[in-house]
Amino acid sequence: MKLHEYQSKDLLSRYGVPVPAGDVTSDPAQATEIARRLGGKVVVKAQVLMGGRGKAGGVKLFDAAEPAGEFAKDLIGKRLVSIQNPAGMVVERVLVAELVDIDKEFYVAVLLDRAAQRNIVMLSAKGGMDIEEVAASDPGAIIKIPIDPAWGIADFEIREALESAEIPAKARNQMVGLIKGLIKAYEESDADLVEINPCALTPEGKVIAADAKVAIDENALFRHADYQATSAESAEDPIEEEAAKRGIAYVRLGGDIGIIGNGAGLVMCSLDEVNAAGGRPADFLDVGGGAQAERVKSCVELIMMDPNIKGLLINIFGGITRCDEVAKGILAALEELNLQIPVVARIEGTAAEEGRALLAGSKIVPAETMQEAAGKIVELAYGR
Ligand code: GDP
Ligand code: MN
Repeated sequence: MKLHEYQSKDLLSRYGVPVPAGDVTSDPAQATEIARRLGGKVVVKAQVLMGGRGKAGGVKLFDAAEPAGEFAKDLIGKRLVSIQNPAGMVVERVLVAELVDIDKEFYVAVLLDRAAQRNIVMLSAKGGMDIEEVAASDPGAIIKIPIDPAWGIADFEIREALESAEIPAKARNQMVGLIKGLIKAYEESDADLVEINPCALTPEGKVIAADAKVAIDENALFRHADYQATSAESAEDPIEEEAAKRGIAYVRLGGDIGIIGNGAGLVMCSLDEVNAAGGRPADFLDVGGGAQAERVKSCVELIMMDPNIKGLLINIFGGITRCDEVAKGILAALEELNLQIPVVARIEGTAAEEGRALLAGSKIVPAETMQEAAGKIVELAYGR
């Protein structure tokens, strides 16, 4: 779950990371006011949860408050489209920040490296808007240091990395402090990414974060209740946004066969089986343990918000979840939503007999095994 730049900067500044003074607003008049208070030399930045704002026209530098306010007025309410996000996002707020005089731009981040099975520090003296290009054309310019889960990272390791990344000597002491702050912020806020790009070096030799991006592990969201609203906002897909509001684990996959299961493992198996049978899964949806009829109905409703759905596969293994409860939910959804698509259900486990009895006589097609269920839904959905 991504945080906005202003939230990221607030968070990092609490860990001693130097950030420019500034304020966020959704009101153009107030934007002018903030710019005036900061002395007119400001940068106005769209607060949207996507990268590449600079290239998308969402970041502009000013030397007077009035034009800064004018730009804020243009920007608020506008849809910003970038290479990373072709669908775009509407700008609701802008950050007006003190302009940083930039001599050099570095890239510095702490993130989870799945291949290394470690958190790592990533560092480059070639930061700025073209870092993706640097990563592709000059991977040697990007230095990675693993963070030992038990011992952390020693100052000398950070210094070595700063040297091999060719970060100028006058910035190194400040960078050591900054990187240690980033690691602490990363760990304490359950982040999976903390990134500063550009990390600016001013002509006076001061290091300051001109941009910041923090992403927090969704599973730890309950420990960071103040970011709950941002979580729904950060969903790039409207159905995922609705799912986040309903507290349902849903990921849109772009296919046309809706899938509901209980337990992440079972759901992933179901996706594989549908794939193997020649189908295109539309989603990952885990109803969770002990799901009640009302919740099942809510899940079906969610899946049906996707206009591409041609069929629905329900795969339940009842442990603490009672199959009869699930069956009631499916029936209620079928009736209330007036579902016209084929539905195949494989239900097994606690109260499976009762569940199947409830579904008998409805239009739902029963299946004994997961493979059979996948084969049937593909056949029915595509009319093969
Ligand atoms: P992003 O494109 O979404 O990552 O947005 P950034 O906040 O990184 O801004 C894009 C670019 O604008 C940066 O790479 C900088 O080159 C420039 N920029 C942003 N803030 C400032 C600033 O305070 N001063 C100067 N001189 N340039 C800035
Ligand atoms: Mn940036």
